[in-house]
Amino acid sequence: MPAGASGKETTPQVTAYVALGANLGDAEATVRQAMDALDRLPLSRVLRRSSLYRTAPVARDCAGRADGPDYINAVVALDTRLPALDLLDRLQALELAAGRERPYPDAPRTLDLDLLLYGDARIDSPCLSVPHPRMMQRAFVLVPLAEIAPGLVSEAQLRAVANQAITRVDA
Ligand code: AMP
Repeated sequence: MPAGASGKETTPQVTAYVALGANLGDAEATVRQAMDALDRLPLSRVLRRSSLYRTAPVARDCAGRADGPDYINAVVALDTRLPALDLLDRLQALELAAGRERPYPDAPRTLDLDLLLYGDARIDSPCLSVPHPRMMQRAFVLVPLAEIAPGLVSEAQLRAVANQAITRVDA
């Protein structure tokens, strides 16, 4: 039967990479629970989970002080048949369920979920850019991503963020 002839389009399985971050409340528990919630998404399964990492917030207040407590960060590899925009919707629903508010850009947050990669897709739509445009600038993304998918991050890319402090929490 030709593709689509059944009337039911199926999305091929892809491996997506999702970055998790939290710096309000019990951030470690929130990130672990979010990993479990990602594993329960329809048509999806978490393949690999990075360790948890602690990093200082990137955002600064008007006096140049770190805006809020340290972050807990991690990355998971997710096998999924959800289309990319559906997956983004699911990630945003999980953020909301964790109590996330967006008072201003880079505000402290109970949970931040970013879609880093969706297979080898390149997506540039009004609400979704993949690969995530800032992923290569952040140690809190590249270090956990390199832990679970070393082939996706080069030594040079890790060296470029080596000045950003990052500590493994659950070594
Ligand atoms: P943030 O405050 O960092 O969570 O950014 C959320 C906004 O970024 C939302 O409006 C998303 O539609 C948009 N966005 C664009 N690309 C991505 C991506 N790859 N992952 C997550 N959010 C994205």
